[in-house]
Amino acid sequence: MDKDALRHWLHKASDWSADYLESVSERPVRAQGEPGSIYAALPEAPPAEGEPMEAIFKDLDALIMPGMTHWQHPRFFAYFPANSSPPSLVAEYVTAAMAAQCMLWQTAPAASELEARVLEWLRQMIGLPQDFAGVIQDSATSATFAAILTAREKVTGFTGNTKGLCGQAPLRIYASAQTHTSIDKAVRMAGIGSDNLVKVPNGSGPYYAMDTEALEALIEADKEAGLQPAAIVACLGGTSIGACDDIEAVAAVAARHGIFLHVDAAWAGSAMICPEFRDLMRGAELADSFVFNPHKWLFTNFDCTAHYVKDPRALTDTLGMRPPFLRTLGREEGETPGVTDYNEWSVPLGRRFRALKLWFVIRSYGVEALRTKIRNHVAWAQGLAKTIGAAADFEVVTEPILALFTFRYRPRFLKDASDETIDALNARLVERINDDGRIYVTQTTHEGRFAIRFQVGQTSTTARDVEIAWEVIRELAGASKGGIGAS
Ligand SMILES: *Cc1c(COP(=O)(O)O)cnc(C)c1O
Repeated sequence: MDKDALRHWLHKASDWSADYLESVSERPVRAQGEPGSIYAALPEAPPAEGEPMEAIFKDLDALIMPGMTHWQHPRFFAYFPANSSPPSLVAEYVTAAMAAQCMLWQTAPAASELEARVLEWLRQMIGLPQDFAGVIQDSATSATFAAILTAREKVTGFTGNTKGLCGQAPLRIYASAQTHTSIDKAVRMAGIGSDNLVKVPNGSGPYYAMDTEALEALIEADKEAGLQPAAIVACLGGTSIGACDDIEAVAAVAARHGIFLHVDAAWAGSAMICPEFRDLMRGAELADSFVFNPHKWLFTNFDCTAHYVKDPRALTDTLGMRPPFLRTLGREEGETPGVTDYNEWSVPLGRRFRALKLWFVIRSYGVEALRTKIRNHVAWAQGLAKTIGAAADFEVVTEPILALFTFRYRPRFLKDASDETIDALNARLVERINDDGRIYVTQTTHEGRFAIRFQVGQTSTTARDVEIAWEVIRELAGASKGGIGAS
């Protein structure tokens, strides 16, 4: 492709992208095709000769687009959002043009220095104190893995890296049952073993916080048994129902026993830019490590995970490799002020220029407009939960925590039905809603029972989209004959 053709196709890609976003709300939110149909429509072997871009774009529309689930659809209420925004998208285009590897300060000085500055902005935005230093990781899973590895190294005097864990008293990690499976994965990958991940029971308060008395008792019993408590992972906004631990109380236990504390705020962390929600993170300033995903709910394209640590040296002593071919002569990290080699803070060596999109987003919106968007999401979710709670044939299962709640359909004419019947009915309702395509929701299990999850967080969602969601849910639940309840 010569330079004129490149310019032509970049314009074409911009137009395609703008057209896509303008019309995405007319598409079904969740892909509607049958498994295997796209694979079957693709040639079995690669083309020997280059094909014209027209043909490739044509197949993008014909073959690929019908198989996409539209995360930037304004009626995406499933999972958690992985939202984007116009400034973030524009930044991703120019990032792709530079295609820089930002592993060392020298390989992209601006990327390294912008990352440092933008993460200071973000730290102030969520109200974390100055004694945290930040790095952008590729995912919350990676950040939590890095945190668990750091905790492992701290408790073993940095011998886990050299000698392995053989012959060590088993390390123990504590987390509530509401924490994300990325904690389970980190414990496996760190060689600690999932049998040493202690799931602490949850209390029954409004936030389903871990029971810190139980936590303390479990730690004491482990110490008594000669095991080594290494880390506690507190959760701020669990994935199932948004559970939040009382971080201050957890931090007090961590401090009493000298245990590393990591906070997983992957989704809810973004809401902390609104001071009125910060009660939820009280005590986070006492943590050793804190992670949240601007790529979830802060209008910044995946991937962009903000990871804050109190002691960056512990992190870089855990992950930094510094082979001779990656040294920047005369400008070593830790020796030259202004030089940060962020690869030493992360599991992968190579790094995309992720700070750029965050910088575009924060500058283009400004903090106040970002707050307004999140406040709206929370208010709309809470409003819908209230409406559903008041509806005769529905019940709220868990009240909203920020912009997430769960509910189920329980029609009056099935008031004597078994739990299993109601669970099956709701599972069919979720399928029916997602086959319909006007909205997209997913499900969870709460206290052993099926519940429909609903979260508001997509960038272009409006109050009207949330109203439409309720209209669609009621229509498809069909408290009338022929509706799902009657079948
Ligand atoms: C989404 C989520 C994660 C995992 O995030 P990735 O960035 O996809 O690894 C971890 N914890 C919680 C609470 C989440 O909601």
